[in-house]
Amino acid sequence: MTSSTPEQPAAVAARLRATFRTGRTKPLEWRTDQLRQLRAMLTEHGPDFAAALRADLGKGEAEAYRTEIDFTLREIDHTLSHLEEWLRPEPAPVPPHLDGAEAWTVYDPLGVVLVIAPWNYPLQLLLAPMVGALASGNCVVAKPSELAPATSAAVARLLPRFLDTDAVAVVEGAVPETTALLEQRFDHIFYTGNGTVGRIVMNAAAKHLTPVTLELGGKSPAFVDRGTDPDAVAARLVAGKFLNAGQTCVAPDYVLTDPETAARLEPALARAVTALFGDDPAAAPNYGRIINERHFDRLTGLLGSGRTVAGGTHDRDRKYIAPTVLGGVAPDAPVMGEEIFGPILPIVEVADLDEAIDFINDRDKPLALYAFTESAQTRRRLTGETSSGGLGFGLPVAHLTVSDLPFGGVGESGMGRYHGRYSIETFSHRKAVLSKPLA
Ligand code: NAD
Repeated sequence: MTSSTPEQPAAVAARLRATFRTGRTKPLEWRTDQLRQLRAMLTEHGPDFAAALRADLGKGEAEAYRTEIDFTLREIDHTLSHLEEWLRPEPAPVPPHLDGAEAWTVYDPLGVVLVIAPWNYPLQLLLAPMVGALASGNCVVAKPSELAPATSAAVARLLPRFLDTDAVAVVEGAVPETTALLEQRFDHIFYTGNGTVGRIVMNAAAKHLTPVTLELGGKSPAFVDRGTDPDAVAARLVAGKFLNAGQTCVAPDYVLTDPETAARLEPALARAVTALFGDDPAAAPNYGRIINERHFDRLTGLLGSGRTVAGGTHDRDRKYIAPTVLGGVAPDAPVMGEEIFGPILPIVEVADLDEAIDFINDRDKPLALYAFTESAQTRRRLTGETSSGGLGFGLPVAHLTVSDLPFGGVGESGMGRYHGRYSIETFSHRKAVLSKPLA
């Protein structure tokens, strides 16, 4: 079902609520059937989605499969193979004064869930939350991002062909349509995007006392310790940073390191960019484009924030910005203001680990913190003395591909978590049950 007028969301929500009341989404069979159908849609129409992702973001086919289509398929398969076990009632010990009683918990579906997705991984970030919502027995309203119009259209066209349309609806549109949706009462709202809109979502949810999951972003630092191999660090930093042209919520936003390490890391980063994208990244099939002119202009405005170590070139007609590394960046430079969300990697120098920890703790809690270090003591200190949504040692971005790890932010980077069984926790109510025989 698609809708483009602000009147229709009320009807969509009412229709899905009526379906939920029938109880048809609750049996395990319905849930697994929907997940299999989602799987069928992705396997049969992988090329359609890959083409849409290329049109929206210039994503190469291999990257589209790896980070969106296959990623979601893995989440589906993981859920299908564990769902029955996850949903099992869990016994709880009873205290002595309730001798003879039994206690346990069961997962209740919440009802009708609204999923609002952003443009940067427009397929994965719409469908992966839906996997959890459907596996938990909910009806779902899916709202794709209008800034990725080809993907939004592909989802609106294909999802209703595969999923139960009485229980799942796609509502396309921008601010007016989303605003109209947010006026409806949902049982959970799962929002991925920026903190400004996150606040709008939370305000709208408060009116109905609807719980929210906010998957937001922020500046995720990468600390590079003394004595690490600069080429090994640079190869991993470059692969994580310039994936999707830097438009990844968990991309390393900036590097924090001491001056001597910075001096060795800078040429290594330049070499790593060439190794991954060749001498002309504009011609590289594995390098993406900036989503639109507004973001292009915002990003090129940040290029003067430091000394150009690599890249720096751009072409507005093709929305291309070269993978760029900036050295000697001051903590108060423009590029250190907001989340960069593009292919610019600034290097900020700090004296040592203490100063790095202070630097991190002086700022908003990041969605991810990365560190490259051989020292167990440094890893322990960063784990214990900082707070972030996730923590990656030696490898950026990859923690979110582990289905058994919760994915989510803390503080300004969001609230709540999902993936794997954490999605079941998010999209269900864990109901307490106590039973004591009468005799
Ligand atoms: P976006 O502009 O596509 O917005 C996200 C959604 O919010 C869209 O569906 C859009 O229609 C809706 N929206 C926009 N304005 C609205 C309004 N005024 N009222 C109601 N709804 C509105 O995406 P974005 O926010 O630019 O996404 C980028 C941000 O998302 C970055 O900060 C990034 O770090 C973050 N992000 C986080 C994650 C995560 O998993 N934590 C993943 C990807 C992106």
